[in-house]
Amino acid sequence: GIAWSGFDENYMLKKLPGIFAAGEMLDWEAPTGGYLLTACFATGKAAANGMAKWLEG
Ligand SMILES: Cc1cc2nc3c(=O)[nH]c(=O)nc-3n(C[C@H](O)[C@H](O)[C@H](O)COP(=O)(O)OP(=O)(O)OC[C@H]3O[C@@H](n4cnc5c(N)ncnc54)[C@H](O)[C@@H]3O)c2cc1C
Repeated sequence: GIAWSGFDENYMLKKLPGIFAAGEMLDWEAPTGGYLLTACFATGKAAANGMAKWLEG
């Protein structure tokens, strides 16, 4: 997975502006031992918001 330090608060890759990542592309462990889909949907929505912000800005 991509390290947290590799992307900004909008889930955009610092080294590849305009490229966003979510879900299993990210380096995270589920402390819950599950709910991976929930986290994938949540980070997917956050990344989509980031994309919209980037396109507007
Ligand atoms: C057997 C199994 C059971 C699971 N059960 C659960 C469960 O009960 N509950 C739960 O919360 N989680 C579960 N998970 C985990 C959950 O399914 C995954 O964490 C989640 O689906 C990951 O979503 P994602 O969008 O990050 O990746 P993926 O769902 O893997 O999506 C990635 C997509 O990218 C596509 N792709 C890959 N390379 C390219 C390319 N070069 N160009 C274009 N497209 C490409 C792939 O075809 C795929 O459609 C399970 C996982 C497995 C394997």
